[in-house]
Amino acid sequence: MERNEKRMVRHSSRIYLSQSALTNNFNFIRKKVGRDVRITSVVKANAYGHGITDFVPMAEACGIRHFATASAFEAEEVLECCRKDSGIMIMGILYEEDIEWAIENDIEFYVFNYDRLPKALGSAKKLNKKAFIHIEVETGANRTGMQKEEFPKAMSFMKKNEEYLQFEGLCTHFGGAESLSNQFKINAQHKRFKDFLKVCKEKKFLPHYRHIACSAAALVYPDTLYDMVRIGVAQYGFWPSPDTYFMHLQESGGNGSTTLKRLFSWKTDIMDIRHVDEGEFIGYGTAYQATRNMKIAVLPLGYSNGYPRAMSNRGHVLIGGKKAPIVGLINMNLFMVDISHISNVSVGDEVVLIGRQKNNTINISSFTNFTQLLNNEMLSRLPAAIPRKTVR
Ligand SMILES: *Cc1c(COP(=O)(O)O)cnc(C)c1O
Repeated sequence: MERNEKRMVRHSSRIYLSQSALTNNFNFIRKKVGRDVRITSVVKANAYGHGITDFVPMAEACGIRHFATASAFEAEEVLECCRKDSGIMIMGILYEEDIEWAIENDIEFYVFNYDRLPKALGSAKKLNKKAFIHIEVETGANRTGMQKEEFPKAMSFMKKNEEYLQFEGLCTHFGGAESLSNQFKINAQHKRFKDFLKVCKEKKFLPHYRHIACSAAALVYPDTLYDMVRIGVAQYGFWPSPDTYFMHLQESGGNGSTTLKRLFSWKTDIMDIRHVDEGEFIGYGTAYQATRNMKIAVLPLGYSNGYPRAMSNRGHVLIGGKKAPIVGLINMNLFMVDISHISNVSVGDEVVLIGRQKNNTINISSFTNFTQLLNNEMLSRLPAAIPRKTVR
């Protein structure tokens, strides 16, 4: 089966990414946000665990030409696999010593402190190139964001040095747009953003892109769209929250048939099959005692491979299209499942950890219900070493 291209031997599991599901998702999002709003594809955390180098070309095949990362480190990975005409934007950490690298490679970056501007100007002049700057403003999330006291000064500085500093964006991030109970906070943040925009208008100095919406806002708050939306979780086929999904259902008259689709599935193979006598313990400690004579499949991955330890004695995998319950603890590199009720199973048979097999499906949500993990947390922790493969 699939091998990691760089390696001779097989990894213990593999991830498949569906191009048609991704196309479906971008069509769905495009319909929601309209033709005129640019979509930046948020690929931080190794594209939410999907794998930057596999995901970026898939998104480009859907017409996406702009990618957002949390760090310069990730931006460098995108740069290595993206088209020449795709833009990259760093929303988070860019160390001072890497500013020149960003400018040299036309990589856009967030600025949230006034002090960063003269430094960016120095680097831009030295390279005789433009720096593409997004000013992130503080509106109530209180993480990164320029305070309103610094903002007019920053605008004057940018305007004075337009030759080297391009005002590419004005942006902010909502702290919790996915929950309806945060609506009052989101509204307050949006109002403060408009106050910043007013300052720009007064100075007759406007950004190329105003952008504040993440997936949740883009899908349910149309007044937050502006010129660009930053789409993370939704492009991977997940609703940001039950709230946003229910709002969509309400809007579409309860018709959930056109919706987002998971593109990700995760598979492994049976490593060994054994019979365990009634009364014997399976795996470490006494977490699971066989209540009858059992047939057990051993799987070659564990919590070090991103399979949550909290799934111990809970949940199931799919083998031969049937549910095989997890028995005992998830080990570092192994776990066991009960296949007593499944016939015609052999070593080497395909095991679905997340995804579909015959008439059964394991969704990440069913998975994360057991473990209290967020979809995002579960996905983003999947090791980069697991090989990814794009399928139709
Ligand atoms: C992660 C992130 C996004 C994307 O959020 P989703 O809810 O996954 O769409 C957008 N903007 C910023 C600043 C982010 O950090």
